[in-house]
Amino acid sequence: MNIHEYQAKELLAKFGVPVPAGYAAMSVEEAVEAMGKLPGPLYVVKAQIHAGGRGKGKFKELPPEAKGGVRLAKTEQEVREAAHEMLGNTLVTVQTGDAGKQVQRLYVTDGVDIEKEFYLALLVDRATGRVAFVASTEGGMDIEEVAHSTPEKIHTIDVDPATGFMPHHGRAVAAALELDGDLAKQAQKVASTLYAAFLGTDAAQIEINPLAITGDKQLMVLDAKVGFDSNAMFRHKDLAELRDLTEEDPAEIEASKYDLAYIKLDGDIGCMVNGAGLAMATMDIIKLNGMFPANFLDVGGGANTEKVTAAFKIILSDPAVKGILVNIFGGIMKCDVIAEGIIAAAKEVNLSVPLVVRLEGTNVQQGKDILANSGLPIVPANDLGDAAQKIVAEVQKAA
Ligand code: GDP
Ligand code: MG
Repeated sequence: MNIHEYQAKELLAKFGVPVPAGYAAMSVEEAVEAMGKLPGPLYVVKAQIHAGGRGKGKFKELPPEAKGGVRLAKTEQEVREAAHEMLGNTLVTVQTGDAGKQVQRLYVTDGVDIEKEFYLALLVDRATGRVAFVASTEGGMDIEEVAHSTPEKIHTIDVDPATGFMPHHGRAVAAALELDGDLAKQAQKVASTLYAAFLGTDAAQIEINPLAITGDKQLMVLDAKVGFDSNAMFRHKDLAELRDLTEEDPAEIEASKYDLAYIKLDGDIGCMVNGAGLAMATMDIIKLNGMFPANFLDVGGGANTEKVTAAFKIILSDPAVKGILVNIFGGIMKCDVIAEGIIAAAKEVNLSVPLVVRLEGTNVQQGKDILANSGLPIVPANDLGDAAQKIVAEVQKAA
């Protein structure tokens, strides 16, 4: 679960992380009001969307030479103009995809003089199984580009969970940012408070880009992207309230109601599978046969008719879907029960695209018989390769 920059900064501030003062605003008037509470003379008006690259982003509704989603302002007139141009409009950045994101909230912050910009992130390093800092002197810009062209400028410092954060971790972060003296001390403090925030909130990532040295030699977090481990949200009711459903895909929200793991993808073939491993294998073999999956969908081990029906509806709500491949292993659930569920669901949703079903496992023959006798145009498949070939052929035939 991700949150907005203003929420992230308010949260980090509670842990003692230095952030500029700022206020969220939902309207032009609120933006002007927020400005009134800040000292000035410089203000920053920032679009709040769950995506980075806002500064270099472009608004669909504005001419291409218009400024992006992070704007410096000095007067009330400039704040007004920035707020007016952003609110309700669609911001396209390198992270939003072509569709962009509609800006519904702004964050008006105290503008600071920037002397230098760094990159500092905390994440779970899957290779070591530890929380790690990723630090670079090359902040402000696209960190993926830095990682690609100058990987030696990115430093990873992991923290042994047995000791937790120790002073030497702070010194390593300061050294990676090439800081000394008072700034090194500040960097150690920032690192230790970020680490406390990471553990305290069960975060999955905290990305600070930029961490800036201000004109008066203070380290300051100017941009923060924070995401939490969804599996731990049950013990953070207060954080769960920060969720902004308008930032999430409606189909993914619907899927989460039925406990379905659903991720929308760009292809044409809807997939309904049980088990993440089987789902990935199914997606791979669709690609091998020349088409792309429209989604990842894991109905889980105990899929019942209700879940299967919900899954069908979610898949079909995606206008890009040109065919559906069901690939289910009946282990805990028997194939005949699954077949009944598929038929009930297919009838209820008025299936309008080709459907290929591959069942394997307990009572597989009964399951196949039920599908064959259903009177529905369901194409049976014998194995995974056969299933992928058939759905691709059916979709191409229908086109
Ligand atoms: P992003 O484009 O979504 O990553 O948004 P950021 O919050 O990182 O802002 C983009 C850029 O705007 C930063 O890298 C800074 O160069 C600039 N910026 C952000 N806040 C301030 C500020 O308070 N003062 C100045 N001078 N520049 C800022
Ligand atoms: Mg940034």
